Amino acid sequence: MVQSFYGSVLEEIDEIAKRINLDSGIHKMIRHPERELTVGIPIERDNGDIEVFTGYRVQHSSARGPCKGGIRYHPDTNLDEIRALATLMSFKCAVANVPYGGAKGGITCDPTKLSKKELQKLTKRYAAMILPIIGPRADIPAPDVNTNEETMGWFMDAVSMYEGSTVLDIVTGKPLDLGGSLGRREATGRGVMLTTIEILKKLKKDVKKTRIAVQGFGNVGSIGAELLMEKGCKIVAVSDVSGGLYNPDGLNIPDLIRYVYGGDKIQLLKNYPTEKNESFISNEELLKLDVDVLIPAALENQIHSGNADEIKADVVVEGANGPITKKADRILNEKRIQIVPDILANSGGVVVSYFEWVQGIQSFFWTIEEVNRNLETIMLKAFQDAWDTAHKEKVSMRDAAFMLALRKIAHAVELRGIFP
Ligand code: GLU
Repeated sequence: MVQSFYGSVLEEIDEIAKRINLDSGIHKMIRHPERELTVGIPIERDNGDIEVFTGYRVQHSSARGPCKGGIRYHPDTNLDEIRALATLMSFKCAVANVPYGGAKGGITCDPTKLSKKELQKLTKRYAAMILPIIGPRADIPAPDVNTNEETMGWFMDAVSMYEGSTVLDIVTGKPLDLGGSLGRREATGRGVMLTTIEILKKLKKDVKKTRIAVQGFGNVGSIGAELLMEKGCKIVAVSDVSGGLYNPDGLNIPDLIRYVYGGDKIQLLKNYPTEKNESFISNEELLKLDVDVLIPAALENQIHSGNADEIKADVVVEGANGPITKKADRILNEKRIQIVPDILANSGGVVVSYFEWVQGIQSFFWTIEEVNRNLETIMLKAFQDAWDTAHKEKVSMRDAAFMLALRKIAHAVELRGIFP
């Protein structure tokens, strides 16, 4: 039987709990999300028909602070996935040491089949329906797969209409003119770049000779690729849902970003007018390329027991959440492939979300230099902690990051005591 995403996350937690001798009661608590809400969201389509979409918000843990995590719009979104992602958020916030617990939300829908007007209605109705459990001190949503600043602006507006006043700090990842933070849009990609450069340094590899393949050309993949190219790495392959592009001499990422995002509608890479050394490859081929670094920055479960054996990269940096299944993780570890885990590598987004929330509360906004400097300090500290723990405990960086996070969450639970 194929293991569910949440099953995979629980297996990791169980292993680490055993290793750190976690109290069995606290272990039980951390295995169970605190609160889950499923909503049926009706909207009137542009043609007058009524359609009902299913949406979720899962709050895994509020032990360390308000719950925090994005909202995704995807046809495959389901409760198991959102539960897994909410759990990973608690661990991600603990590794980075930002004072949040974890949550995640999503709507099962295909956003490419909805007009902008329909997406706005869907977002606002979803916001209204999960309003009873969210709030600036309770649970603060943010963008994730197929949602962005515009979505967060709509979300914020819906909540504000209910409250009777503008509630900027209900979401992060907002547009700059609505209380957003400089650098938030680029933050996850920037964090992927920072952790990639850091692991290359630790492994004593020459950044300028590094060949990288990036799966996924959304917010994380495209910006991560661009920033790594600026650092001198060669991005030899990128992909989106339609497939990938390969150029052994390195792709021109700014050109590709202009092609995909420059017009009114997002363009697919499969329609890109290729030049001499460029060729089309499938997503599966991209994962198996003989590169120095592979960055899966699309969806979960991309590297599984069926293809893990064929991964040839020396290093995998997880831009996406959960791109490697538990079974595949074991295979890659046996092959001595160095993995920088998601809860570390892609935490840049939630770290700058935290900065946005802090700036909003103080109504005092930082320069881009301040944002990027603070992001780098937090991410490099988290990276070093995980690296040191991995070496001290002789475990993978994933296990090390989970150990650090689980200890922090468990300690918070212990300090608070159980209510009532
Ligand atoms: N969706 C992002 C993540 O998976 C960001 C979450 C946030 O900023 O709250 O980490």
